[in-house]
Amino acid sequence: MIELSHASLSELTCPEGLACACGRRHAMPMDYLRVGAGAVRNIPDALQAMGCSRPFIVCDVNTKAAAWDLVRPVLEDTGISYTLYCFRQQRLEPDEYATGSLILAWDSNCDCVIGIGSGVINDCCKVLRHCAGVKQMIIGTAPSMDGYASNTAAMIHDHMKMSVDTDYPDAIICDIDIMKNAPLRMLQAGLGDMIAKYSAICEWRISHLVTGEYYCENIAAMIRAAVQKVSENAAGLSRRDPQAVQAVTEGLIVAGIGMSFAGVPRPAAGQEHFFSHMWDMFDLNRGLPCDLHGIHVGVGTLLTLRMYDILRHTTPSREKAKAFIASFDDTQWQCMIRRIYGPAADEVIEKEHVQYHKNDPVTHKHRLDIILAHWQDILRIMDEELPSLQELEALMQHTGMPMTPGELGFNHRDVQDALVGSRDNRNKYLLSSLFWDLGLLYTTELD
Ligand SMILES: [Zn+2]
Ligand SMILES: [Zn+2]
Repeated sequence: MIELSHASLSELTCPEGLACACGRRHAMPMDYLRVGAGAVRNIPDALQAMGCSRPFIVCDVNTKAAAWDLVRPVLEDTGISYTLYCFRQQRLEPDEYATGSLILAWDSNCDCVIGIGSGVINDCCKVLRHCAGVKQMIIGTAPSMDGYASNTAAMIHDHMKMSVDTDYPDAIICDIDIMKNAPLRMLQAGLGDMIAKYSAICEWRISHLVTGEYYCENIAAMIRAAVQKVSENAAGLSRRDPQAVQAVTEGLIVAGIGMSFAGVPRPAAGQEHFFSHMWDMFDLNRGLPCDLHGIHVGVGTLLTLRMYDILRHTTPSREKAKAFIASFDDTQWQCMIRRIYGPAADEVIEKEHVQYHKNDPVTHKHRLDIILAHWQDILRIMDEELPSLQELEALMQHTGMPMTPGELGFNHRDVQDALVGSRDNRNKYLLSSLFWDLGLLYTTELD
C-alpha cells in the first residue's frame, strides 16, 4: 500500500496503478510526464514513449509566441516532421468553432496531436484526439488551471458551458522556463485554482458524512500535501520564482490526477467552483467574455470561507429547518430558478423533478437528522481542513490577484444569485446544500 501524498508524479501515473486503503485501485497510466526547467528537450522521448512519430501541433498566436522558439529547434534538430496549426484569434474560446476548425485542418498523415497552450488549447485538443482516434501530448504554457491531467474538457456549445468526457493526455510536458513567463493573471489563476482545494476537501468530507458518498482519505492527503507546498511557495509567484511556478504546476497536475483517481471532481472542486460556474453562466447570458477559471475560483474560495465562518457562529435548529421546509413552495422555487438560470432554467427544473429530488421533504429530513447528530464532527472537519480567511487573504494579496466579486464585474445580486442558485446547478451536495438543509440559504447575505 502506498501513501499517495509521498508518491512522485511518475509513480502516480505508473501503468499498473496503486492499490489503496479505500478498496479501489487508483490508476491513471500515462506514457510520459515531465515538469521542470528545460523539459521541452524531452519531446522526442515523449513521442517515442507514446509510439508516435508525426505530430499535428496546435497552438494560438499567444502560445506560439510563448513556446515555439524553444519547441521548434527540438523538433528540427531531431528530424521530427510535423504539421502546425495556429489559431489566429487573440482570444480563443473552447467552442464548436475552435474544434470545428481543428477537425477541418486535421492532417491524416499525422499520428498524434500536440497542443501547445493551457486550458483552452488542451481542451480543444482533447476533443480533436477523441474524434481523430489518436494519442495526445500537451506542452503547457501557463500554470493557470488543473485541467492538464483531467479526462474532461470544459467546452462552450450553443453559448452554454458544458463538460465533455474525453481521455486525459498521454503525455504532459511542463517546461518551467516557459511557464514562469506566463501572463501574471494566469499565474494568479493557478494559485486561485489550488487554494480552492482547501474548501473542496472540507466539503468532500462533510458530504461523505451527510450523504454517504465515496471518500478516499489517501487522495485527500495527496491533495492537502500539494496545496501545502503551493501555499509555502506562493510568495514567490509574483516574482516568477521557478520553485513557486513548479510547485503550482505540479499541484495542478496532482489535482487533475486526484479527480481521475476519485472518478469525480470532489478532490479538486466544491462550493467555490460553483460560484465560478454560476458567474460564467451570467457572463455568457450577458454576452460578456468569461474571466479565467482560477481567478473566479480564487474569489469564490474567499466567499466560501465566509460561509464556513457563518456556520461556525450558527447553532443549528431543528425547528428552524422544519419551518423552512414546511414553507418551501415549488412554484416560488421555479420562479427563482427561471430568474437566475434564464435559458437553462427548464433543464434545471426538469432534472430536480425527474432525477434529483433534492427538495423532497423526506430526503431533507434524513439529511437533517444526520447533520444535527454530527454537528460537532462537521465543526471539527472545518477546523482540520480550513485556513483562516485572514491567512488566505494575505496569501492572495501578495500576488495582487482579484479578491472581491466587484473586481470581476459582479455586484451584490450576482453574488447572492450564485449562492442560492449553486445547489441547483448539479446533483452534488455543496456547502450551500448544507445551508439549505438548515433553513439558512435564502436568508444568508454574503456581502
Ligand atoms: Zn483510495
Ligand atoms: Zn478548477
